[in-house]
Amino acid sequence: LQGYVGFANLPNQVHRKSVKKGFHFTTMVVGESGLGKSTLVNTLFNTTLYPAKNDTVELSPEVPKTVEIQAITADIEENGVKLRLTVVDTPGFGDFVNNEESWKPILDNIEARFDAYLEQENRVNRHKMVDNRIHACIYFIQPTGHALKPLDIEFMRRLHTRVNLIPVIAKSDTLTEEEIRVFKERILADITHHNIHIYQAPQYEYDDSETISENREIMAKIPFAIVGSDKEVEAEGGRRVRGRKYPWGVIEVDNEEHCDFVKLRQMLIRTHMEELKEYTNDVLYENYRTEKLMAMGI
Ligand code: GDP
Ligand code: MG
Repeated sequence: LQGYVGFANLPNQVHRKSVKKGFHFTTMVVGESGLGKSTLVNTLFNTTLYPAKNDTVELSPEVPKTVEIQAITADIEENGVKLRLTVVDTPGFGDFVNNEESWKPILDNIEARFDAYLEQENRVNRHKMVDNRIHACIYFIQPTGHALKPLDIEFMRRLHTRVNLIPVIAKSDTLTEEEIRVFKERILADITHHNIHIYQAPQYEYDDSETISENREIMAKIPFAIVGSDKEVEAEGGRRVRGRKYPWGVIEVDNEEHCDFVKLRQMLIRTHMEELKEYTNDVLYENYRTEKLMAMGI
């Protein structure tokens, strides 16, 4: 079951609802260059949404002076279930001499998507609503092992009322288990200290105990320590796995003992896809809409 996505396994109830609603999920990836955004997206959806990049390419002097926003859509199918997945990449974030406003084009993009939705709601014919809002924003933290950087804090503070933030520790194979444990604590302490709201899964009274403990396990891993790789390597016993090879062994992407990639994927594609969409609509979008209408004096 290597690289298997998992949305075809959604509980029936959720499934029927999603299929009816069109099953379209949009996620954004943000973080400094080289932290593995493109690789993670490939790993996550096991497709080649991104053209392979030559690792040795140096940034040319013509690199754009602002953050770019690139959306890529792919229809993926698993066991006859179709999912239209859009990934919005933001190359350029944090790459400039002055990164003070790196968050701005990203916030603008998220709000422009809200505006487009609002405009459709105001139309007389609301049958064919297209939902291009961002349902989750995976924010990549550099694996320094120390603390969040001012750039991270500023981004999250500016964006947390507009998008479901899911922080991840990038390239966690470069840290030891103990370093990850300590780093996670520091990141969460920083997040609390700065009153940043990251995505929290709601709990329902009617959830069965299995669901509750599954949710708890997922939430306990945030910020997910991830490892991305779109290459197969040979692990113990000659198994072919997606992973990264080191002189001392192989880090397996799909092994929960090795990293939190499986948990992140589970959350996005299986357990929380609908929740992320609902929170986006019911809370984030609704607040935006209210603020906007109030500003217009309506
Ligand atoms: P992006 O600029 O954020 O899109 O980063 P890329 O996905 O292009 O990755 C940049 C480099 O980091 C490439 O050489 C990848 O092979 C490597 N890389 C990506 N993910 C990981 C990871 O989890 N661990 C390690 N060690 N390297 C990674
Ligand atoms: Mg990239």
